[in-house]
Amino acid sequence: MKEEYDIIVVGAGPAGTIAAQYAAKEGSSVLVLEKDRDVGYPVRCAEAINREGLEAFIKPDPKWINAEITKFGFVAPNGKKVIIDLGKVEGYMLERRIFDYELAKIASEAGAEILTRTYVNGLILEDGKVTGVKYEFRGQQMEVRAKIVIGADGVESRVGKWAGLETCVDFRDMECCFQVTAANVQCDQDTLFFYFGKEVAPEGYFWVFPKGEGTANIGLGVSGGIGKKRSALSYLNSNLEKFFPTANILTQVAGGVPSVITLEEIAAPGIMLVGDAARQVNPLSGGGISSGMIGGSIAGKLAAQSIKNNNLNYIKKYPKEWHKARGKKHKILDKLKDGIYSFTDEQFNKLIESLIKLPSKKRTIGRFFIIALANKPSLLKEIVKVFVI
Ligand SMILES: Cc1cc2nc3c(=O)[nH]c(=O)nc-3n(C[C@H](O)[C@H](O)[C@H](O)COP(=O)(O)OP(=O)(O)OC[C@H]3O[C@@H](n4cnc5c(N)ncnc54)[C@H](O)[C@@H]3O)c2cc1C
Repeated sequence: MKEEYDIIVVGAGPAGTIAAQYAAKEGSSVLVLEKDRDVGYPVRCAEAINREGLEAFIKPDPKWINAEITKFGFVAPNGKKVIIDLGKVEGYMLERRIFDYELAKIASEAGAEILTRTYVNGLILEDGKVTGVKYEFRGQQMEVRAKIVIGADGVESRVGKWAGLETCVDFRDMECCFQVTAANVQCDQDTLFFYFGKEVAPEGYFWVFPKGEGTANIGLGVSGGIGKKRSALSYLNSNLEKFFPTANILTQVAGGVPSVITLEEIAAPGIMLVGDAARQVNPLSGGGISSGMIGGSIAGKLAAQSIKNNNLNYIKKYPKEWHKARGKKHKILDKLKDGIYSFTDEQFNKLIESLIKLPSKKRTIGRFFIIALANKPSLLKEIVKVFVI
């Protein structure tokens, strides 16, 4: 290990290892520091990803794909169900334990060094600029310097805060999630199911995602405001009893999802934030794998170019490029989230019944949102604002 690197990445999740890969490919020396013993474990994710978002970065491999998704299922509070057939594979269920590991391997092949069981516990700051990190490795406190540090330390990120960036999320926007991976579950292997309603998951949704014959990731997210009154686990237990009474729980996981738009500040002298640390999650779905990889790729590339050209202006391009790639879309999705999660059970029933009435070829995700907007015209005004601000 060297005393100084061009770039240090804190966290070896998908956002971090993609940033490392893109920076190393541009010729930078890169070190990735990961606090856990294993890259990719523990998994805190329902493991669904859209096809385009995945294939932009890596060719799907049966080694880490559990299911190919061709349909979405929506279940109304009154129990009525509609299936939207996407006509072809539009998503995948990942085995993230292997997927994250694979991304780390690719970063390493590109030239990045990766060190696990390394807990970053502070930054080195000089003249208002981040110049390295402090970390604990095998019981010893150590330091390593870098021209740029990329904070990819996930939802509980502290790197941004240490650098003086405003990273707080209102607790109401922090979706409280609880999920089990269960066996002895009958579910379609090509469909992602979403259940809505005050009983199953107020201000959020309950999901059933296939993980191979007889198994599924079953979980839910509720807003921080709801989670304060009744825990996500308590909602999940009632849903399991009601919908999957014979399920055997193999693993369980709790976690937060920052269902918000991206932070105002995601770059400052010597520091960039990516993935959950930058709040780059899709605020409507809570999905953060593909958007984190997009953020990671932009940041990694710009960081390396900044060093290559000895010009910090490349870092300054990061917020703008992110905004163009995803940030603007997230603002619209955030408005949609606020509208849809405030639907009454009756509005959800009406929405799903309207879809059921359509011939199956006309049932699309776009139509889902058009009908949702018709149920809440005030939402449209909010969305239009995103385009003009
Ligand atoms: C229950 C649940 C279900 C979800 N389902 C989906 C889904 O189906 N699809 C989807 O796209 N997204 C989903 N998400 C969100 C998704 O998991 C995250 O958005 C994604 O993992 C973000 O990637 P990341 O690389 O930013 O962070 P992470 O994957 O969280 O990686 C951060 C890494 O940083 C390390 N780290 C943290 N602090 C330090 C430190 N101080 N020093 C060193 N290392 C550190 C961590 O150990 C971790 O390995 C879900 C989240 C939850 C909680």
